[in-house]
Amino acid sequence: MKKLALVSCHMIRSNNMCPGDAKCFAALSRKEGEFKRYEDEGAEIFGIMECGGCEGNKNRVVCSLALLKMQLAALNERIDAVHIGTCIMKFCKRKDDLIEAVKSKAGVEVVEGTHPYAPPTIFGQ
Ligand code: SF4
Repeated sequence: MKKLALVSCHMIRSNNMCPGDAKCFAALSRKEGEFKRYEDEGAEIFGIMECGGCEGNKNRVVCSLALLKMQLAALNERIDAVHIGTCIMKFCKRKDDLIEAVKSKAGVEVVEGTHPYAPPTIFGQ
């Protein structure tokens, strides 16, 4: 069973444009998108971190990741991989910087993407 951390877009989450992170959880449950690789082994989400914001320092996500790993270590837990959210992969102009920062410090595999779903249409339109 792989243990995962996700990095998500602060702007999208704080504007409640992805309520409950439901698409990531649904995709993990169904093993779709970038979670398909866990079809046989299984995987669980152990934490979701935000990017640090458009005006933030990209190192904030690195600090969040270090803190998450520290907290999990105190619980005798770990993460095996970090997924960069589809929200970031599709919509963030700073994604290359963010991904580079995470990859340089994660110490585990970094996967680019999470769920495969398009944004929902409003009222069925
Ligand atoms: S930097 Fe990118 S991922 Fe972070 S809030 Fe801004 S658009 Fe979203």
